[in-house]
Amino acid sequence: MLTALKVVPTSCTIFLMEKNYRRLPSVDRVLGDERIRRLAESYPHDRLLSLVRQQLDTERQAITTGRPRASSLAEIVEAVVSCLRALEKPSLRPVVNATGVILHTNLGRASLSVESITAMNTVAGSYSNLEFDLESGTRGSRHVHIEGLLCQLTGAEAALVVNNNASAVLLVLTALAKRKEVIVSRGQAVEIGGGFRIPDVMRQSGVRLVEIGTTNCTYARDYEQAINPRTVALMRVHSSNFKVVGFTAEVTIEEMAALGDRFGLPVFDDLGSGCFLDTSQFGLAPEPMVTQSVALGVGLTFFSGDKLVGGPQAGIIVGKKELVDKLKRHPLARAVRIDKVRLAGLTATLVHYLKGEATAKIPVWRMIAAPLDELARRADKWAEVLGELAEVVDGETMVGGGSLPGGTLPTKLVAIQNRKGRTAAQALSRKLRSQETPVIGRISDDILLLDPRSVLPEEDEIVRRALRAIAPGRK
Ligand SMILES: *Cc1c(COP(=O)(O)O)cnc(C)c1O
Repeated sequence: MLTALKVVPTSCTIFLMEKNYRRLPSVDRVLGDERIRRLAESYPHDRLLSLVRQQLDTERQAITTGRPRASSLAEIVEAVVSCLRALEKPSLRPVVNATGVILHTNLGRASLSVESITAMNTVAGSYSNLEFDLESGTRGSRHVHIEGLLCQLTGAEAALVVNNNASAVLLVLTALAKRKEVIVSRGQAVEIGGGFRIPDVMRQSGVRLVEIGTTNCTYARDYEQAINPRTVALMRVHSSNFKVVGFTAEVTIEEMAALGDRFGLPVFDDLGSGCFLDTSQFGLAPEPMVTQSVALGVGLTFFSGDKLVGGPQAGIIVGKKELVDKLKRHPLARAVRIDKVRLAGLTATLVHYLKGEATAKIPVWRMIAAPLDELARRADKWAEVLGELAEVVDGETMVGGGSLPGGTLPTKLVAIQNRKGRTAAQALSRKLRSQETPVIGRISDDILLLDPRSVLPEEDEIVRRALRAIAPGRK
């Protein structure tokens, strides 16, 4: 068994330690150093003092735990300066998503339209009538700014926007089904990703989840048999990130809505992505549309603002007024409310749908709608920078972000290869990630691939600059 080695101080090591402590510069000496004095122009004295003290403490600890040498003044100054540089530099930075996954959750999902960004900027820099009725001069509601637009776009009676779709699920279940039963098909009691599991959320909301059917097959009679006086709703969860193939049976949302009507129960429809455009016009599988669910008279439909909608992070809930009103009044609604900045950004994104200009303005849809010949032209321009090292090949883009499972779009990829091999591809990929604006690709079969479909043409110059840095003849 391994045990931690303990440094038992002997009189000799104690002597050495004390000698090393004494070699450390004083706080004043570090503060008096030229480089630290220059920092004093941008940072308050107290901040520098506390950083220098922290660094000297770290040094003393290192000596105590056995480091045989005391750091020099220059080394300590360097440590303080780089600590401060690391703290002041934003850790959250823009990157170029050349992975070929359009809605990449780890890369921040949807990037926003120019109009959305402008709207967010405007509201961020001033006070607003967020919860103030300009007509009467009294308290208003933040919901009014977006409800009419959502109702117009979806045909719903009422709407509410919250922090994200996960909180929409939590709010709907807590406010409307606590201590009651909700019926879900076993094939839909899924994990969305990042540990967000529908059964766990239901438990968290104090709702009894009644799972029906089997993993691959659920029939209408399974719902019927499970309905009892404690049942408050039937729930559909769009299986947004996987596909069950082979011998399967699922109850359609049409059938669920009809069952709900027959038994006087609302259907809660967690659409995940929430789509306002018909995806089949781009050669994709049809993604369930919000308007479909609303038209079927589903009680509540909820979906993300930053998946296929293409706006900022938000959870959008639309449906029957009676149910939405209950949600608005519930205390949890306050805990999961949306902030003014994202409310403004989402409104501007929704206006693009109202005007029928989504494919021209919303980045997610611009990427989905980009014609193949244009992608080929852009891929050629990228590959040109690398000469021999790159070639343009056919490939596929994933939409991702919990939508269109298994659905892909044709694309042109820049395949970068020097010495073929895993380490070579990884070294290139690391180099692209270390650029001022990191460019993120994907590795497949030991080849680094860059997909122009998940990159906006406005970002092409950043990609070309990064590629120049890894071009042959460059160190
Ligand atoms: C993505 C997703 C969620 C969670 O949405 P967020 O906006 O990420 O909180 C919930 N349900 C389904 C079906 C999803 O696909």
